[in-house]
Amino acid sequence: MKRRNFLLTSMAGAATAALAPSTVLASCAPKKDGKKANATPLNLCFQEGIALGANLQEKLDYCESLGVTGFEVGGRGLAGRVDEINNALKGRNVRMAAICAGFDGFILAEDGQKDEFDRTMREIIEAAGKINSCGVIMVPAFNGQKPCRPHTMDTRNYLCEQLHELGEFAVQCGTTVILEPLNRGECFYMRLVADAAAIARDADSKGVKCMGDFWHMQEETSDYAAFMAAGTEYLQHVHIASRGRRKTPGEDGEKDNYREGFRALKELGYPGFVSFECGCEGDPKIVLPAAVELLRKQWEEA
Ligand code: MG
Repeated sequence: MKRRNFLLTSMAGAATAALAPSTVLASCAPKKDGKKANATPLNLCFQEGIALGANLQEKLDYCESLGVTGFEVGGRGLAGRVDEINNALKGRNVRMAAICAGFDGFILAEDGQKDEFDRTMREIIEAAGKINSCGVIMVPAFNGQKPCRPHTMDTRNYLCEQLHELGEFAVQCGTTVILEPLNRGECFYMRLVADAAAIARDADSKGVKCMGDFWHMQEETSDYAAFMAAGTEYLQHVHIASRGRRKTPGEDGEKDNYREGFRALKELGYPGFVSFECGCEGDPKIVLPAAVELLRKQWEEA
């Protein structure tokens, strides 16, 4: 090929290459007018152990005082708390969010722990439905849990089958089960929001969903892409903490940047909660209101 022809061909190729990515990237760019995206409200939520107060009523009062409209409780003993929780929420501007685990055993156990999981998880799911929770959070197996089915394709298929049954049961109860991906130190085979979303899809039940936890999302290459991969069909809940030490958002300074993930949630019109699951280094009376303010500011900026 003569040099001039080669150059022309190369330039044509370059032009095509330049066009294609910009076409694709256009949908990922921040919305300039911002009207639709900014209409999505930030729905904040506190886990029970985070809200200040000596009892449930005081904790809910505290949530309301900060405009926090979600409340997340642990699943252990939930069946015995249904009336207490429903009565406490009556007439309030706070709704039940997700239920955080609380079952015994685990779904991938090779021994009697699987039966323990089935029994206790179903009890929690039933109770979750009675308090209008959006779902019960679960991890199929932590790294240290034994004896565990081997990490094979057969195990993945088994997991999807089992989740299908569990998801259908959850639908009957008016709630869902929510898969939580963790970091590799805790659960090496389900580390990405997209992984969890794909398992939820393959479980083929409207009752199987996934979530993202900004702490564990240190595994992600992009917070934005992670939430977008799950989309509104699968993304059911979000956890948040500071990004250096899992303290209260803001306690790790510049590291605590949630804008990229928030931008995805806004563009999705995500209707769920962003729930505090974190420790606290400073005085919670100061640090918690500051965190609420910081997250609202970053949401505006996203
Ligand atoms: Mg979490």
